[in-house]
Amino acid sequence: MQQNFLAVNAGSSSIKFQAFATAGDNLARRVSGLLDGIGSQPRLHIKDGAGATLVDESLATLSVPSVEAGEAIVGDWLTGTMAADIIGGPIAAIGHRVVHGGPDFSTAARIDDAVLARITALTHLAPLHQPKNLAPIHAWRQRRPDLPQVACFDTAFHRGHSELADRFAIPDALYREGVRRYGFHGISYEFIAGKLREVAPAVAGGRVIVAHLGNGCSLCALQDGRSVDSTMSFTALDGIPMGTRPGAIDPGIVLYLMREKAMDAAAIERFLYHQCGLKGLSGISNDVRILEASADKMARLALDHFVYRITKEIGALAAVLGGIDALVFTAGIGENGADLRARIVAGSAWLGLTLDKDANRAKKIDLSAVPQGPRVLMIPTDEEWMIARHTKRLLDAG
Ligand code: ADP
Repeated sequence: MQQNFLAVNAGSSSIKFQAFATAGDNLARRVSGLLDGIGSQPRLHIKDGAGATLVDESLATLSVPSVEAGEAIVGDWLTGTMAADIIGGPIAAIGHRVVHGGPDFSTAARIDDAVLARITALTHLAPLHQPKNLAPIHAWRQRRPDLPQVACFDTAFHRGHSELADRFAIPDALYREGVRRYGFHGISYEFIAGKLREVAPAVAGGRVIVAHLGNGCSLCALQDGRSVDSTMSFTALDGIPMGTRPGAIDPGIVLYLMREKAMDAAAIERFLYHQCGLKGLSGISNDVRILEASADKMARLALDHFVYRITKEIGALAAVLGGIDALVFTAGIGENGADLRARIVAGSAWLGLTLDKDANRAKKIDLSAVPQGPRVLMIPTDEEWMIARHTKRLLDAG
Protein backbone atom coordinates (compact mmCIF):
# COMPACT_ATOMS: atom_id res chain seq x y z
CA MET A 1 0.00 0.00 0.00
CA GLN A 2 1.27 3.47 -0.89
CA GLN A 3 2.42 5.57 2.04
CA ASN A 4 3.06 9.32 1.89
CA PHE A 5 5.58 11.33 3.86
CA LEU A 6 6.26 15.02 4.32
CA ALA A 7 9.72 16.47 4.86
CA VAL A 8 9.90 19.98 6.32
CA ASN A 9 13.04 22.08 6.49
CA ALA A 10 12.40 25.41 8.23
CA GLY A 11 15.29 27.89 8.15
CA SER A 12 15.74 31.46 9.33
CA SER A 13 13.82 33.06 6.44
CA SER A 14 12.53 30.13 4.41
CA ILE A 15 10.56 26.90 4.67
CA LYS A 16 11.32 24.07 2.25
CA PHE A 17 8.86 21.20 2.13
CA GLN A 18 8.48 18.10 0.03
CA ALA A 19 6.01 15.24 -0.13
CA PHE A 20 7.08 11.72 -1.10
CA ALA A 21 5.13 8.57 -1.86
CA THR A 22 6.50 5.06 -1.48
CA ALA A 23 7.36 3.55 -4.85
CA GLY A 24 8.60 0.00 -4.36
CA ASP A 25 11.69 0.32 -2.17
CA ASN A 26 12.17 3.96 -3.06
CA LEU A 27 10.44 7.24 -2.34
CA ALA A 28 9.06 9.24 -5.26
CA ARG A 29 8.80 13.02 -4.99
CA ARG A 30 5.23 14.24 -5.43
CA VAL A 31 5.49 17.86 -4.27
CA SER A 32 8.40 20.23 -3.80
CA GLY A 33 7.79 23.64 -2.23
CA LEU A 34 9.66 26.68 -1.03
CA LEU A 35 8.38 29.66 0.89
CA ASP A 36 11.26 32.09 1.01
CA GLY A 37 11.77 35.79 1.69
CA ILE A 38 9.90 35.49 5.01
CA GLY A 39 9.79 38.94 6.62
CA SER A 40 11.06 40.68 3.46
CA GLN A 41 9.65 39.56 0.08
CA PRO A 42 7.74 36.35 0.73
CA ARG A 43 7.21 34.11 -2.27
CA LEU A 44 5.58 30.69 -2.36
CA HIS A 45 6.66 28.36 -5.13
CA ILE A 46 5.33 24.80 -5.33
CA LYS A 47 6.06 22.23 -8.04
CA ASP A 48 4.81 18.72 -8.63
CA GLY A 49 7.10 15.69 -8.89
CA ALA A 50 7.71 16.30 -12.59
CA GLY A 51 8.75 19.90 -11.95
CA ALA A 52 5.55 21.57 -13.23
CA THR A 53 4.63 24.70 -11.29
CA LEU A 54 1.52 24.35 -9.10
CA VAL A 55 1.79 27.64 -7.21
CA ASP A 56 3.99 30.68 -7.83
CA GLU A 57 2.81 33.57 -5.76
CA SER A 58 4.32 36.67 -4.20
CA LEU A 59 2.79 37.33 -0.79
CA ALA A 60 2.38 40.59 1.10
CA THR A 61 5.32 41.12 3.48
CA LEU A 62 2.96 41.84 6.37
CA SER A 63 1.09 38.58 5.83
CA VAL A 64 4.29 36.54 6.43
CA PRO A 65 6.29 38.36 9.10
CA SER A 66 7.74 35.22 10.70
CA VAL A 67 8.52 31.54 10.14
CA GLU A 68 5.47 30.74 12.31
CA ALA A 69 3.22 32.71 9.96
CA GLY A 70 4.87 31.04 6.97
CA GLU A 71 4.30 27.65 8.56
CA ALA A 72 0.56 28.36 8.75
CA ILE A 73 0.47 29.15 5.01
CA VAL A 74 2.43 26.01 4.11
CA GLY A 75 0.30 23.88 6.48
CA ASP A 76 -2.94 25.20 4.96
CA TRP A 77 -1.74 24.32 1.47
CA LEU A 78 -0.53 20.87 2.49
CA THR A 79 -3.85 20.03 4.14
CA GLY A 80 -5.88 21.38 1.21
CA THR A 81 -7.52 19.60 -1.68
CA MET A 82 -4.87 20.38 -4.32
CA ALA A 83 -2.15 18.76 -2.18
CA ALA A 84 -4.34 15.72 -1.49
CA ASP A 85 -4.96 15.25 -5.23
CA ILE A 86 -1.29 15.60 -6.17
CA ILE A 87 0.07 13.49 -3.32
CA GLY A 88 -2.59 10.87 -3.94
CA GLY A 89 -3.55 9.96 -0.37
CA PRO A 90 -3.20 10.89 3.29
CA ILE A 91 0.11 11.77 4.94
CA ALA A 92 1.46 8.93 7.12
CA ALA A 93 4.11 10.96 8.98
CA ILE A 94 6.17 14.16 8.88
CA GLY A 95 9.94 14.46 9.19
CA HIS A 96 11.61 17.71 10.25
CA ARG A 97 15.10 19.02 9.88
CA VAL A 98 16.37 20.00 13.33
CA VAL A 99 19.73 21.68 13.37
CA HIS A 100 20.94 20.55 16.80
CA GLY A 101 20.72 17.12 18.36
CA GLY A 102 23.35 17.81 21.05
CA PRO A 103 25.73 15.10 22.28
CA ASP A 104 23.09 12.35 22.55
CA PHE A 105 20.98 12.13 19.38
CA SER A 106 23.09 10.03 17.02
CA THR A 107 20.22 9.28 14.66
CA ALA A 108 16.73 10.53 13.84
CA ALA A 109 14.12 10.25 16.60
CA ARG A 110 10.37 9.88 16.72
CA ILE A 111 8.96 12.93 18.46
CA ASP A 112 7.06 12.47 21.71
CA ASP A 113 6.82 14.78 24.72
CA ALA A 114 10.15 13.62 26.11
CA VAL A 115 12.02 13.99 22.78
CA LEU A 116 10.44 17.40 22.22
CA ALA A 117 11.58 18.52 25.67
CA ARG A 118 15.13 17.32 24.92
CA ILE A 119 15.22 19.15 21.57
CA THR A 120 13.86 22.31 23.18
CA ALA A 121 16.50 22.09 25.93
CA LEU A 122 19.20 22.23 23.22
CA THR A 123 18.02 25.66 22.04
CA HIS A 124 20.90 27.41 23.86
CA LEU A 125 23.33 25.58 21.53
CA ALA A 126 21.59 26.93 18.39
CA PRO A 127 19.54 29.94 19.52
CA LEU A 128 18.98 31.29 16.01
CA HIS A 129 17.98 28.04 14.34
CA GLN A 130 16.43 25.62 16.84
CA PRO A 131 13.30 27.77 17.48
CA LYS A 132 12.64 27.95 13.71
CA ASN A 133 12.90 24.15 13.45
CA LEU A 134 10.57 23.73 16.43
CA ALA A 135 7.87 26.03 15.02
CA PRO A 136 6.49 23.57 12.42
CA ILE A 137 6.71 20.68 14.90
CA HIS A 138 4.46 22.55 17.34
CA ALA A 139 2.13 23.69 14.56
CA TRP A 140 1.64 20.15 13.20
CA ARG A 141 1.11 18.78 16.73
CA GLN A 142 -1.79 21.21 17.05
CA ARG A 143 -3.06 20.76 13.51
CA ARG A 144 -2.83 16.96 13.44
CA PRO A 145 -2.09 15.53 16.92
CA ASP A 146 -2.57 12.02 15.50
CA LEU A 147 0.23 12.35 12.94
CA PRO A 148 3.61 10.79 13.84
CA GLN A 149 6.49 13.27 13.62
CA VAL A 150 10.21 12.62 13.34
CA ALA A 151 13.21 14.86 14.03
CA CYS A 152 16.30 14.51 11.81
CA PHE A 153 19.34 16.25 13.22
CA ASP A 154 22.12 18.01 11.32
CA THR A 155 24.54 16.92 14.02
CA ALA A 156 23.54 13.24 14.29
CA PHE A 157 25.67 11.86 11.45
CA HIS A 158 28.80 13.29 13.11
CA ARG A 159 28.21 11.81 16.55
CA GLY A 160 30.57 8.91 15.83
CA HIS A 161 33.61 11.25 15.76
CA SER A 162 36.48 10.17 17.98
CA GLU A 163 36.98 12.13 21.18
CA LEU A 164 40.12 13.61 19.60
CA ALA A 165 38.05 15.16 16.82
CA ASP A 166 35.18 16.07 19.16
CA ARG A 167 37.29 18.19 21.53
CA PHE A 168 38.57 21.75 21.60
CA ALA A 169 41.74 22.38 23.62
CA ILE A 170 39.73 23.91 26.46
CA PRO A 171 38.98 22.69 30.01
CA ASP A 172 37.05 19.47 30.32
CA ALA A 173 34.20 21.09 32.29
CA LEU A 174 33.15 23.03 29.19
CA TYR A 175 33.25 19.88 27.07
CA ARG A 176 31.03 18.11 29.59
CA GLU A 177 28.47 20.92 29.47
CA GLY A 178 28.32 20.59 25.67
CA VAL A 179 31.05 22.73 24.15
CA ARG A 180 32.07 20.21 21.48
CA ARG A 181 32.85 20.00 17.79
CA TYR A 182 29.40 18.76 16.73
CA GLY A 183 29.53 19.38 12.97
CA PHE A 184 26.49 20.20 10.79
CA HIS A 185 25.06 19.46 7.31
CA GLY A 186 24.89 15.85 8.52
CA ILE A 187 21.63 15.08 6.71
CA SER A 188 23.29 16.05 3.43
CA TYR A 189 26.45 14.05 4.21
CA GLU A 190 24.44 10.99 5.13
CA PHE A 191 22.59 11.23 1.82
CA ILE A 192 25.90 11.52 -0.07
CA ALA A 193 27.43 8.58 1.82
CA GLY A 194 24.44 6.43 0.79
CA LYS A 195 24.43 7.67 -2.81
CA LEU A 196 28.16 6.91 -3.14
CA ARG A 197 27.45 3.21 -2.64
CA GLU A 198 25.20 3.41 -5.71
CA VAL A 199 27.17 5.67 -8.05
CA ALA A 200 30.79 5.00 -7.01
CA PRO A 201 30.90 1.70 -5.10
CA ALA A 202 34.66 1.38 -5.63
CA VAL A 203 35.36 4.39 -3.39
CA ALA A 204 32.30 4.40 -1.12
CA GLY A 205 34.13 2.29 1.46
CA GLY A 206 37.28 4.41 1.27
CA ARG A 207 38.53 7.85 2.27
CA VAL A 208 36.18 10.51 0.91
CA ILE A 209 36.02 14.27 1.43
CA VAL A 210 32.61 15.82 0.72
CA ALA A 211 32.37 19.55 0.03
CA HIS A 212 28.86 20.80 0.84
CA LEU A 213 29.00 24.28 -0.68
CA GLY A 214 25.66 26.08 -0.47
CA ASN A 215 24.59 29.16 1.48
CA GLY A 216 26.31 27.43 4.38
CA CYS A 217 29.54 25.64 3.49
CA SER A 218 31.41 22.82 5.17
CA LEU A 219 33.61 19.83 4.41
CA CYS A 220 33.24 16.34 5.84
CA ALA A 221 35.77 13.51 5.98
CA LEU A 222 34.15 10.11 5.44
CA GLN A 223 35.84 6.82 6.20
CA ASP A 224 33.88 3.81 5.00
CA GLY A 225 30.73 5.95 4.74
CA ARG A 226 31.00 7.30 8.30
CA SER A 227 31.86 10.86 9.27
CA VAL A 228 35.20 11.09 11.08
CA ASP A 229 35.65 14.88 11.06
CA SER A 230 34.08 18.02 9.69
CA THR A 231 35.02 21.69 9.36
CA MET A 232 31.95 23.06 11.16
CA SER A 233 32.11 22.50 14.89
CA PHE A 234 30.35 23.99 17.94
CA THR A 235 28.31 26.22 15.68
CA ALA A 236 27.75 26.52 11.95
CA LEU A 237 30.20 29.45 11.96
CA ASP A 238 33.40 27.39 12.01
CA GLY A 239 35.43 26.05 9.10
CA ILE A 240 35.52 27.43 5.56
CA PRO A 241 34.09 30.81 4.48
CA MET A 242 30.44 30.90 3.38
CA GLY A 243 28.05 33.35 1.74
CA THR A 244 27.79 35.62 4.78
CA ARG A 245 29.79 33.77 7.49
CA PRO A 246 33.58 34.02 7.75
CA GLY A 247 34.38 30.43 8.66
CA ALA A 248 37.11 29.99 11.26
CA ILE A 249 38.56 33.26 12.53
CA ASP A 250 40.97 34.03 15.33
CA PRO A 251 38.80 34.28 18.48
CA GLY A 252 40.94 37.32 19.28
CA ILE A 253 38.93 39.15 16.60
CA VAL A 254 35.81 38.72 18.74
CA LEU A 255 37.64 40.24 21.71
CA TYR A 256 38.82 43.09 19.47
CA LEU A 257 35.24 43.79 18.32
CA MET A 258 34.06 43.83 21.94
CA ARG A 259 36.84 46.11 23.19
CA GLU A 260 37.49 48.42 20.27
CA LYS A 261 34.05 48.55 18.63
CA ALA A 262 31.93 48.14 21.78
CA MET A 263 29.94 45.37 20.09
CA ASP A 264 27.81 43.18 22.36
CA ALA A 265 26.94 39.50 21.79
CA ALA A 266 23.90 40.29 19.62
CA ALA A 267 25.88 42.68 17.40
CA ILE A 268 28.75 40.20 17.02
CA GLU A 269 26.29 37.43 16.22
CA ARG A 270 24.69 39.55 13.48
CA PHE A 271 28.14 40.42 12.15
CA LEU A 272 29.40 36.82 12.06
CA TYR A 273 26.24 35.28 10.60
CA HIS A 274 25.22 37.99 8.12
CA GLN A 275 27.98 40.45 7.31
CA CYS A 276 31.09 38.37 6.65
CA GLY A 277 32.05 35.60 4.22
CA LEU A 278 31.90 36.26 0.47
CA LYS A 279 29.55 39.18 1.06
CA GLY A 280 31.66 40.84 3.73
CA LEU A 281 34.98 40.37 1.97
CA SER A 282 33.78 41.42 -1.49
CA GLY A 283 31.50 44.18 -0.24
CA ILE A 284 29.28 43.16 -3.17
CA SER A 285 27.28 39.95 -2.73
CA ASN A 286 27.13 36.53 -1.12
CA ASP A 287 26.08 35.00 -4.44
CA VAL A 288 28.89 33.29 -6.33
CA ARG A 289 27.17 33.98 -9.68
CA ILE A 290 27.20 37.73 -9.05
CA LEU A 291 30.83 37.67 -7.92
CA GLU A 292 31.88 35.63 -10.95
CA ALA A 293 30.19 38.12 -13.27
CA SER A 294 31.80 41.11 -11.55
CA ALA A 295 34.98 42.83 -12.76
CA ASP A 296 35.56 44.31 -9.29
CA LYS A 297 38.86 43.27 -7.77
CA MET A 298 37.28 42.63 -4.36
CA ALA A 299 34.86 40.17 -5.99
CA ARG A 300 37.88 38.35 -7.41
CA LEU A 301 39.69 38.43 -4.09
CA ALA A 302 36.65 37.00 -2.27
CA LEU A 303 36.44 34.06 -4.68
CA ASP A 304 40.23 33.53 -4.57
CA HIS A 305 40.09 33.46 -0.77
CA PHE A 306 37.15 31.05 -0.83
CA VAL A 307 39.10 28.64 -3.05
CA TYR A 308 42.27 29.08 -0.97
CA ARG A 309 40.55 28.25 2.31
CA ILE A 310 38.71 25.26 0.86
CA THR A 311 41.86 23.74 -0.65
CA LYS A 312 43.67 24.30 2.65
CA GLU A 313 40.96 22.44 4.58
CA ILE A 314 40.83 19.64 2.00
CA GLY A 315 44.53 19.17 2.78
CA ALA A 316 43.79 19.07 6.51
CA LEU A 317 41.02 16.47 6.13
CA ALA A 318 43.19 14.41 3.76
CA ALA A 319 45.75 14.35 6.58
CA VAL A 320 43.06 13.13 8.99
CA LEU A 321 42.08 10.37 6.55
CA GLY A 322 45.67 9.49 5.61
CA GLY A 323 44.97 10.15 1.92
CA ILE A 324 41.95 10.54 -0.32
CA ASP A 325 40.02 8.22 -2.63
CA ALA A 326 37.38 10.74 -3.72
CA LEU A 327 36.41 14.39 -3.46
CA VAL A 328 32.65 14.96 -3.82
CA PHE A 329 31.07 18.34 -4.60
CA THR A 330 27.46 18.99 -3.58
CA ALA A 331 24.85 21.74 -2.79
CA GLY A 332 24.19 24.99 -4.73
CA ILE A 333 27.78 26.03 -5.43
CA GLY A 334 29.20 22.49 -5.44
CA GLU A 335 26.61 21.32 -7.97
CA ASN A 336 26.53 24.40 -10.22
CA GLY A 337 29.80 26.26 -9.80
CA ALA A 338 31.91 24.60 -12.53
CA ASP A 339 34.66 27.26 -12.38
CA LEU A 340 35.04 27.01 -8.63
CA ARG A 341 35.10 23.21 -8.85
CA ALA A 342 37.91 23.44 -11.41
CA ARG A 343 39.91 25.83 -9.24
CA ILE A 344 39.47 23.74 -6.07
CA VAL A 345 40.56 20.58 -7.89
CA ALA A 346 43.55 22.42 -9.40
CA GLY A 347 44.55 23.52 -5.90
CA SER A 348 44.27 19.91 -4.71
CA ALA A 349 46.24 18.37 -7.61
CA TRP A 350 49.00 17.39 -5.18
CA LEU A 351 46.56 14.79 -3.79
CA GLY A 352 46.34 13.19 -7.24
CA LEU A 353 42.94 14.75 -8.06
CA THR A 354 42.29 15.44 -11.75
CA LEU A 355 39.42 17.08 -13.64
CA ASP A 356 37.99 16.42 -17.08
CA LYS A 357 36.94 19.89 -18.29
CA ASP A 358 34.15 18.60 -20.53
CA ALA A 359 32.68 16.33 -17.85
CA ASN A 360 32.87 19.27 -15.42
CA ARG A 361 30.95 21.56 -17.79
CA ALA A 362 28.46 18.81 -18.67
CA LYS A 363 27.68 18.24 -14.94
CA LYS A 364 28.51 14.54 -15.06
CA ILE A 365 28.86 12.55 -11.86
CA ASP A 366 32.47 11.42 -12.33
CA LEU A 367 34.50 14.45 -13.31
CA SER A 368 37.94 12.83 -13.09
CA ALA A 369 40.29 13.13 -16.08
CA VAL A 370 41.87 9.70 -15.73
CA PRO A 371 40.41 6.25 -14.94
CA GLN A 372 42.90 5.51 -12.15
CA GLY A 373 43.62 7.41 -8.93
CA PRO A 374 41.27 9.35 -6.67
CA ARG A 375 37.90 10.35 -8.11
CA VAL A 376 36.38 13.81 -8.39
CA LEU A 377 32.60 13.51 -8.23
CA MET A 378 29.58 15.81 -8.36
CA ILE A 379 26.52 14.40 -6.58
CA PRO A 380 23.38 16.52 -6.07
CA THR A 381 22.30 16.36 -2.44
CA ASP A 382 18.71 15.69 -1.36
CA GLU A 383 18.22 16.46 2.31
CA GLU A 384 14.44 16.22 2.13
CA TRP A 385 14.61 12.72 0.63
CA MET A 386 16.93 11.70 3.49
CA ILE A 387 14.48 13.16 6.04
CA ALA A 388 11.57 11.28 4.42
CA ARG A 389 13.66 8.07 4.45
CA HIS A 390 14.32 8.33 8.20
CA THR A 391 10.68 9.17 8.79
CA LYS A 392 9.55 6.03 6.96
CA ARG A 393 12.14 3.92 8.77
CA LEU A 394 10.96 5.08 12.20
CA LEU A 395 7.31 4.69 11.25
CA ASP A 396 7.96 1.13 10.03
CA ALA A 397 9.77 0.40 13.31
CA GLY A 398 6.52 1.24 15.10
P1 ADP B 1 20.99 26.35 0.85
O1 ADP B 1 22.18 26.18 1.76
O2 ADP B 1 20.10 27.50 1.24
O3 ADP B 1 20.25 25.06 0.56
P2 ADP B 1 21.95 26.13 -1.85
O4 ADP B 1 22.56 24.79 -1.64
O5 ADP B 1 20.75 26.23 -2.74
O6 ADP B 1 21.65 26.86 -0.50
O7 ADP B 1 23.09 27.09 -2.45
C1 ADP B 1 22.84 28.44 -2.72
C2 ADP B 1 24.08 29.06 -3.36
O8 ADP B 1 24.41 28.34 -4.56
C3 ADP B 1 23.87 30.49 -3.82
O9 ADP B 1 24.23 31.42 -2.83
C4 ADP B 1 24.77 30.63 -5.03
O10 ADP B 1 25.97 31.30 -4.64
C5 ADP B 1 25.14 29.22 -5.41
N1 ADP B 1 24.82 28.94 -6.83
C6 ADP B 1 23.63 28.65 -7.36
N2 ADP B 1 23.73 28.49 -8.71
C7 ADP B 1 25.05 28.68 -9.02
C8 ADP B 1 25.82 28.67 -10.22
N3 ADP B 1 25.25 28.40 -11.40
N4 ADP B 1 27.14 28.91 -10.13
C9 ADP B 1 27.72 29.16 -8.96
N5 ADP B 1 27.06 29.19 -7.79
C10 ADP B 1 25.75 28.97 -7.81
